[in-house]
Amino acid sequence: MPSPRPPASTRLTLHGAAGEVTGSCSLLETSAGSILIDFGLLQGSRRDEWRNIEPPPIDFHSLAAVVLTHAHVDHCGRLPMLGRLGYRGPLFCTRGTAELLPRVLRGSARLQRTRLEEFHQGTWPEALPLWLEPGQDPASIPATPAPDEPPLLYESGEVEHLLRRIHAVDFGERVALERGLSIRFGFAGHVHGAAHVIVEQHGRVIAVFSGDVGSPHTGMLRSVDPLPACDLLVLESTRGDRLVADAPEPDRELASVLDEVRACGGTLLLPTFALGRAQQLVWRLSTAATNGHLEGLSVYLDAPMAEFALRLVRHATEDLAEPLRRRMASGDDPFAVPNVRALFTRSDSLKIAARPRSVILAGAGFCDAGPILHHLAEGLPREDVRVGLSGWYPDRSLGWGLLRDCTHARINRKVVPVRAGRRRLEGYSGHASAEELAAWTRSGPDRPRTIVLNHGTQDSRGALAERLRGEGHRDVRTPANGEVVEFGGA
Ligand SMILES: [Zn+2]
Repeated sequence: MPSPRPPASTRLTLHGAAGEVTGSCSLLETSAGSILIDFGLLQGSRRDEWRNIEPPPIDFHSLAAVVLTHAHVDHCGRLPMLGRLGYRGPLFCTRGTAELLPRVLRGSARLQRTRLEEFHQGTWPEALPLWLEPGQDPASIPATPAPDEPPLLYESGEVEHLLRRIHAVDFGERVALERGLSIRFGFAGHVHGAAHVIVEQHGRVIAVFSGDVGSPHTGMLRSVDPLPACDLLVLESTRGDRLVADAPEPDRELASVLDEVRACGGTLLLPTFALGRAQQLVWRLSTAATNGHLEGLSVYLDAPMAEFALRLVRHATEDLAEPLRRRMASGDDPFAVPNVRALFTRSDSLKIAARPRSVILAGAGFCDAGPILHHLAEGLPREDVRVGLSGWYPDRSLGWGLLRDCTHARINRKVVPVRAGRRRLEGYSGHASAEELAAWTRSGPDRPRTIVLNHGTQDSRGALAERLRGEGHRDVRTPANGEVVEFGGA
């Protein structure tokens, strides 16, 4: 006999990532208790950053559980505020996420403190694209106005307090909460440890929260687990307006830019995010090395977090895609790169700034801070340098400008001409495309009764909503922040 439908009073509210790509935070309210899924940082402008200070209108004291899908800061970055907001219970996440979370959150607290100090000392990182007329004196460009003060959301003590509450769970393991509620994690194929969260009430799946869904096209991790039959699916839509066909051959693109760099004895600079993108780039560089495209080049991994995450990904062979798993089992490491060196200190990083005959992977991925800035300051004026730009860049940022042929860049109060070649490297996204997301909604025994789209711009979630409706999903919603969605019932 089928289990009874959940009462119509089952409610979902998005408190972030509603029509935007950061700040994931979803509240599920059931007759048996409430669960918070993800509590991520809102990122982008300084105004967005200040929105993190204002807690969402949630009764944190009464939550039955807080559950985390994965360790990217736009999903986990507000968690250390939970203690102050009154939540005293456990934080559930997968074992892989629990391995990453201490470094991610301690790094987040440290970064906030550093940014505040830089603000008061007038040494904040500066990275701006400029378009100068021929003959125009760079000194004629007015100085950049000081940014607004950055917020300090929490201190390291609050991070440590939260870390003591982590309850690590295996994929598929059921965790009983209160009054018939339970949760378990399904594999999401996005980054190490990433999961979707399956919420059950008396054995019936009432809701699934996708977190971020990986693309099988990327080919590094195994594919997302099939979707169980559920009343509600909360589905990310980061690439809801992009198709698989848009993705070119990443190996071919990388090989071609490596060959250019080898031919002129130059440097390839790869701005990268530490978790996800960096491991994919190392895997692709390993393939390039096997085919001779790295000969004569040294590789520097200038991002300690990326090196740490790479070790975890290498170790979790059961999470790799089948071809990589087979290679690992036969002793052939798909992440092995000859002449690779990891850098752990700023002085080591400064010593190799845009060093010739090398490939340098460095953070931050948006080219707005971190060691990539001194590599760019050194490398952009040189014609033998290539900058490989992958993924999305915020409007008016340096990465955005480099893709739009800016003539100069202002980096940390110095204007440099841009003579380096810029290459867009596609195919490294950790997110599923529109077709892949739609295919996932059909992967279970039954379609979800209601789909709520989050974690995408208004354009991308609108495009995905249209696609899903066109495929016969009758109830697809795109609620605003704080708007209550009722679901379930007869
Ligand atoms: Zn993510």
